[in-house]
Amino acid sequence: MGIKMGYALDQNGVEWDAQTYQKGQGAEPLRCQHCGVNVTHNPPHPKEIYDKPVLVSGYFRLYPKRPHVAGCRFGIDSEVVEIAKTSDGLIESLRNNRYRMRLVMIKEALEEASKSKSNSSGDNRAGTRKTYASSSGRLPAYINSAKRALKLRAACTDDRELQEHLELVFEGNVNVAWSQFYFEAERHMEAFHAVSQNTVQHPIAIQGRVKDVKYAIQGVESKNVINLLMNKFRPDSDDPANGIGLEVSIWASDPSWFKGIERDNEILVLGMWRSNTKAPAPASPGGRYKTFTTRRLTLTLVLKTQVIKV
Ligand SMILES: [Zn+2]
Repeated sequence: MGIKMGYALDQNGVEWDAQTYQKGQGAEPLRCQHCGVNVTHNPPHPKEIYDKPVLVSGYFRLYPKRPHVAGCRFGIDSEVVEIAKTSDGLIESLRNNRYRMRLVMIKEALEEASKSKSNSSGDNRAGTRKTYASSSGRLPAYINSAKRALKLRAACTDDRELQEHLELVFEGNVNVAWSQFYFEAERHMEAFHAVSQNTVQHPIAIQGRVKDVKYAIQGVESKNVINLLMNKFRPDSDDPANGIGLEVSIWASDPSWFKGIERDNEILVLGMWRSNTKAPAPASPGGRYKTFTTRRLTLTLVLKTQVIKV
């Protein structure tokens, strides 16, 4: 529950580090460094997210239904209030300490930005299908606020608490669950299904670890790509001899947009994704699968800030 905390205090005020703490150490119960609410420990553990096991950091977390005291810096509610303040209208206040983020505004602003990029010759198509006037001018504020909300989600143990404080809506005020907006590595295939079956038309955020960054592919300077580490191939439910995998890639025409992003970095990418599936390829004999089918999720950046390092 709530934001993962790296440290906690025991009843004698001694500080414990979540990476090295072991159950039973210190004068229990342990508590939040800032507001004193009781916390519990999740130790570091290996997790097979990718082709290789990855060590998940340890953390302290809340007990269910026992939130931080109002104003605590680890409280999600105060963080959401802060993000809303500078969101330029993207995040609006509702009753009962709840907020709402409008994904349609992000989508329209991204569309406008990509149009103005491809129409730099001066072809003015303003006025088409636009709900919010000159939203592209606000795009940096929108992306920045969405980014902060996503970083907050990435810092949490799950969707639950953020869902209570910050709801997501799309066109026609349709509610979007956080689970349909933010996809961690384990859920990349769910993101693929959402995009390929067209069940979502709103921007989504995909988190993952960088496998490689490639510049000027085939000598073309505007072809630059970040590939995320793939999850393991899984058997096709219709044909278990066919292994299904998913490649997630982010393209940019400007190579400087990938500056500072390297292999093994954990990144989050927000925007409009496209999907496709390659024809099955034969596997080498003797393996688990006879064929491999590779699905793809790709996104072409309109703005550098759509990529967020976490
Ligand atoms: Zn606290």
